[in-house]
Amino acid sequence: MIMGSIGSNLQEVKRRIDAACAASGRNANTVTLLAVSKTFDGAAVREAHAAGQRAFGENYVQEALAKIDGLADLRASLEWHLIGPLQSNKTRPVAEAFDWVHTIDRLKLAERLAAQRPPGLPPLQLCLQVNISGEASKSGVTPGELPALAHAVAALPGGRVRLRGLMAIPEPAAELQAQRAPHRALAALVHALNAQGLALDTLSMGMSADLEAAVMEGSTLVRVGSAIFGARA
Ligand SMILES: *Cc1c(COP(=O)(O)O)cnc(C)c1O
Repeated sequence: MIMGSIGSNLQEVKRRIDAACAASGRNANTVTLLAVSKTFDGAAVREAHAAGQRAFGENYVQEALAKIDGLADLRASLEWHLIGPLQSNKTRPVAEAFDWVHTIDRLKLAERLAAQRPPGLPPLQLCLQVNISGEASKSGVTPGELPALAHAVAALPGGRVRLRGLMAIPEPAAELQAQRAPHRALAALVHALNAQGLALDTLSMGMSADLEAAVMEGSTLVRVGSAIFGARA
């Protein structure tokens, strides 16, 4: 197969994930690559799909819905993840069109998604967003607020949503060790919740610039945009 640059970029990102797994004694098939296609068009998603990529992340609901619609012919072999902020008044189309939402930061959002998820679809997979670096500008719950929210979301009745884990966007840092610290902190929060009886299996952490640090600290899902699709405008 002749690959365009998206295909070769995907190969390079997978090589980086494999190297970080090897360096930390992890099996490479325990890390899922989420290709973040925000601002790129459906043709870019098709190209990545043709190169074997299946999971895609989007930040903006309206942009994503148009893209999902335009790629309806591939829907059965695509997995769509919302990784941007979600407003309460946008939950219905998200419940109907996406497979995952990574940015739950209040119970009301999860309740609305559970009520609006169509019965014919599998449960919507949820992650709670944690403001792991304590930045005033970042969304997400504080580590202190997390346990109550996690137990409440996990206990929602009806089986229309399923709590899978935690997501964070740490403050950028240049050095590997500095990058690892917030990822380690997020991993510790998942372990603490599981020790309290939850069964979370997902750590959504790591982006183009820090995926090695995230994988070394236990990421199960890295969200990579620019290293696959190029710089965003
Ligand atoms: C844009 C974005 C990414 C991807 O960032 P890159 O640096 O382009 O890899 C990952 N996660 C979230 C939440 C994003 O908004």
